[in-house]
Amino acid sequence: MPFVDGKTLLTHAYENQYGIGAFSAHNAETILAILDAAEEKQSPVMIQIGQKVIQTLGLKPMKEMVDAFARNVSVPVCIHLDHSRQYEQTMEAVQAGFQSVMFDGSGLTFQENTRITKQVVETARALGIGSEGEIGKIGGTEDDITVDEKDALITTTEEALNFVNETDVDYLAVSIGTAHGIYKQTPNLRFERLKEISQAVKRPIVLHGGSDVPDEQVRKAITMGIAKINVDTELRQAYTKGIKEYLRDHPDDIVLADSLGAGREYMKEKVKEKIDVFGSAGKADQFSMKEKVVTL
Ligand SMILES: [Zn+2]
Repeated sequence: MPFVDGKTLLTHAYENQYGIGAFSAHNAETILAILDAAEEKQSPVMIQIGQKVIQTLGLKPMKEMVDAFARNVSVPVCIHLDHSRQYEQTMEAVQAGFQSVMFDGSGLTFQENTRITKQVVETARALGIGSEGEIGKIGGTEDDITVDEKDALITTTEEALNFVNETDVDYLAVSIGTAHGIYKQTPNLRFERLKEISQAVKRPIVLHGGSDVPDEQVRKAITMGIAKINVDTELRQAYTKGIKEYLRDHPDDIVLADSLGAGREYMKEKVKEKIDVFGSAGKADQFSMKEKVVTL
């Protein structure tokens, strides 16, 4: 079993200044695209299960599908619950054997966010599962929830530190100039703020909205404490492009394995590119077998 808990994975990345890609999966082909890329690059990887696919396919079926495919890979894999806004759902993922969960209380008051995140952290930690919390508001659209640019709030160092002191969350998502979805203009990360937050909280930081952030900005952010980079939009674009091109060239082919397979190939290449940018290629053997049997 290649499964590793999120804290072990991200602590290693944080201490060794590389990033772990947290890639969103939407169906069998996208799971396989991520796993194949990780295997080829010998990179540890996080597979994110988000709210949209939970609505359509369900939390447990997605988890079981990743389990089934990941069983035979040699690299460390961590199944992560992305942007859960319900305590109950977070606990459902804990029960289902996810190795990492995110409770996103960024839409709540500081007090409520802190209170619920702390509960999630305590339960997850007792079971050896990593936990992610969010402070500040990341702009853009995620799971049908849109945060207008004017409402996107850059995380302050003070609130990040208070949040971490209160919750002791394993890794922290902050708002430092990225957004979910497609960018209207090239994002500019707030490096000064990131540096300050990182020095204050002394633990892995998570970059959401990692698609289309220029490579050099991502690399710089990794040197400042970013250890998990969420990528979804760019992968969906690659997957869709593969399918479109295949159907354009083979308009009468209704063998789904062919068209979806073309999408899988395109997405796999995009994941490999990201792994190279994040610097996680070749890091798979840094994790011992002992660490690889945390759950299931
Ligand atoms: Zn996000």
